[in-house]
Amino acid sequence: MPVGTNQVVLTGPVPRHSLMTLSESECVQDEEEEGGMKKHLTPLERLSMNMCHDQKTVKELLVGSRVGFYLVRGQIGYGSFSKVKLAFHALTKDKVAIKVLDKTRLDAQSQRMLSREISSMEALQHPNVVRLYEVVETPSRMYLVLEYAGGGDLHTRITEGKLSDAVSKIVFAQILSAIKHLHDNNVIHRDLKAENVLFTCDACIKVADFGFSTRVKNRSDILDTFCGSPPYAAPELFRDDNYVGPPVDIWAMGVLLFFMVTGTMPFRADTINKLRCCILEGTYSIPTWVSAQCQRLIRGILRQEPAERCALDQMLGCEWLLPVEMSRPHPPLQLNPIYLVEADPGDLSEEEEEVKGHLEELGITMDRIDNNQGKGSRSAITGVYRILLHRAQRSRGAESLPIICGVVKDPKKDSLRTYRGLRHTSKFCAIA
Ligand code: ATP
Ligand code: MG
Repeated sequence: MPVGTNQVVLTGPVPRHSLMTLSESECVQDEEEEGGMKKHLTPLERLSMNMCHDQKTVKELLVGSRVGFYLVRGQIGYGSFSKVKLAFHALTKDKVAIKVLDKTRLDAQSQRMLSREISSMEALQHPNVVRLYEVVETPSRMYLVLEYAGGGDLHTRITEGKLSDAVSKIVFAQILSAIKHLHDNNVIHRDLKAENVLFTCDACIKVADFGFSTRVKNRSDILDTFCGSPPYAAPELFRDDNYVGPPVDIWAMGVLLFFMVTGTMPFRADTINKLRCCILEGTYSIPTWVSAQCQRLIRGILRQEPAERCALDQMLGCEWLLPVEMSRPHPPLQLNPIYLVEADPGDLSEEEEEVKGHLEELGITMDRIDNNQGKGSRSAITGVYRILLHRAQRSRGAESLPIICGVVKDPKKDSLRTYRGLRHTSKFCAIA
């Protein structure tokens, strides 16, 4: 069966026209003869029927140009473990990014990492963190359906020129907000680097790639898996047998901040061994043209002793970020559609009510959601729900950019233009 395990199986008679090739617009209601009566097919029924019986759709599923409810287009990225493709949801038409992993190439360790990636993303809902909409699994592949961030990555952006002080503030403030959300939810990223910070087409920042992340019971839990990218690695990763999670992410934020404002890395060397020595020595020099307030923040973060490093709350109140006004946080909403069925009348937010209406228009009734429960992100219905919910949140300004108070921006110098392109640094991951 070429269809992912997330396929919604509909029971009932197979329609006579099922082998006809139907157009791709699945939003038009179709008609089906049933016991001499004309019955309207909802978009969901029509799509599900095509996935089982329409030759063209079945072929697309077989060759991988369709995955579950998604129409897959070109490749937009690749990593050490995956290919990332652009796709569209067949019902909602939203753009998504699909991270494709070949299961046959995943050893036990990468399978564990993949489970952690999914589990970490499931625990997060923040405007500056890439969202996981759905997981589709076939016998040979895993597909992580993600929010699309089409504005390129921060590394490419910086290699085209260091960021101005004002843009650095806006970018860093969003990264800080994302990492605070991670740590508040006991998620440690462990691979924070400019390549994993993406821009949306609206210049909003999205922290991505949770492949090395882990969930801890307490933030002070001791970890012993050494992972990440060497230029961003904290000294304790080279020095000690184990480490505490949050300060490792905080160190990487210091390296990122240095990279943003100077266009160069604080610790550079042509071999890993020399790089290790540089990081352990902890000597770096900040160009004098970096503002004194920013220099103080960098020095507060890049401290050798993890316990002495600037905490996230201290960074939030630091002088350099004082003029930044973060956008008003929106309350997190339920990511499981079963909430629409189980919530008491009147308890649904405006966004959830709106999504409920859209789902019903598509043929995703509350009964169908009820029958589909327990599948979490491995459900096509959850995928539609999360995409629509995210759209409803965005339309209410949930992802507006921070503002710098009292700064008149030079639109030529400081434009938050978005960039496309890819670049990868080497990584390491070893079990101590
Ligand atoms: P690595 O571990 O080598 O960084 P990976 O296999 O874990 O790679 P990702 O870093 O998640 O994969 O993705 C690889 C590339 O695909 C990214 O650098 C980015 O260019 C692109 N990409 C990933 N996620 C998205 C997304 N949500 N939207 C747009 N592009 C994306
Ligand atoms: Mg990556």
